[in-house]
Amino acid sequence: MTAPRVEIDLTKIEENARCLVDRLGAYGISVTGVTKGVCGHPDVAGAMVDGGVAGLADARITNIVRMRMAGITCPVSMLRAPMASELEAVIRHCDTSYNTEMDTILKLGLAAEKRGASQDIILIVEMGDGREGILPEALNDFATLVIATPWVALKGIAANFACMGSVAPTAADMITLSRLADSVEGGCGPFVDLVSGGGSANVPWALGEHTAWRVNNLRLGEAILLGLDPVTGRPIDGLHTDAFALFAEVIEARGKPGTIPHETTPPDLGPLRIVGQDNPGTRVVLAVGQQDTDAGDLTFPSGFTFVGATSDHTVVDTGQSVMPVGSEMKMGMRYGALMRAMSARDVAKAVHGKRDMTTRAKDHDPPPFLTLV
Ligand SMILES: *Cc1c(COP(=O)(O)O)cnc(C)c1O
Repeated sequence: MTAPRVEIDLTKIEENARCLVDRLGAYGISVTGVTKGVCGHPDVAGAMVDGGVAGLADARITNIVRMRMAGITCPVSMLRAPMASELEAVIRHCDTSYNTEMDTILKLGLAAEKRGASQDIILIVEMGDGREGILPEALNDFATLVIATPWVALKGIAANFACMGSVAPTAADMITLSRLADSVEGGCGPFVDLVSGGGSANVPWALGEHTAWRVNNLRLGEAILLGLDPVTGRPIDGLHTDAFALFAEVIEARGKPGTIPHETTPPDLGPLRIVGQDNPGTRVVLAVGQQDTDAGDLTFPSGFTFVGATSDHTVVDTGQSVMPVGSEMKMGMRYGALMRAMSARDVAKAVHGKRDMTTRAKDHDPPPFLTLV
């Protein structure tokens, strides 16, 4: 097989999805499968659907079009607030979009009217992560404007945690979010259907002893794909952490002098070039680099240590193990490494446990202005 490549075990992804769907379902919390970490890879999306997720979501319309083209017909939400240039595509391919700007919502309404299909809107509330979101005190007035807008329907509210920052949400945050839902209904009348309490960072709360209050949805990427809690980096009980593996070929293997002077390291590459001072092991050079993945976000077989990486090479100390030229090293990936590998042109994707996608109807054509690569 060609290298570098990502090998994907669809059965493990399906099992992770089902495990979370079942466990959260017991608390009345539905799961939206987030596909942006795999660039909307249709087989991975299909495995999430087979695992029982209520719908899918992605931050990029190109990824969503890719899934639609492959025959994914379940509800798909646009997670990132749409750009002006992609409103028509969002209306065409997404049932729902997450929004924070009234101007965009008005334009979505106009695009929806043109197509004759109403768009569901979920309002993102800023709850301390510092990325996007409407300020809580402005939410009621904002919701009133959305409700008055033709061709859009207010479907729910959502919070983000640990996207920019790395602070996990608390039970108190979930109470606040629930009260915001009550308050929007008090002010505006219509039922706020969906109260989405965040992403994988909120799984520990959701699986622990808790009251869900009004939180009835989580949007999960990392937990399903990698089985990890993004805040602690630790595995979530009962989930597979090895659904993805990266394989790269050894193109050089030899002992190197233990001490390489630090002066040879350009300072701007900083921590990527961790050059050991006293290193008796064998160094191998892999034909994979920062252009293919986030090398610092890889995990290596036990006894191996990451030495450094440049755009096209990764150096690993294999300790007492011998890895001949031409052999392949298997590595694990954290989220950043996975995301970049899945979007890298020169990294092949090999799928195990592939399902028949032809049973998923192909009723979504790409809009003419989008080029698929
Ligand atoms: C990426 C993203 C998610 C999913 O995050 P994970 O940590 O991978 O579960 C959820 N919501 C929004 C708005 C996102 O951008």
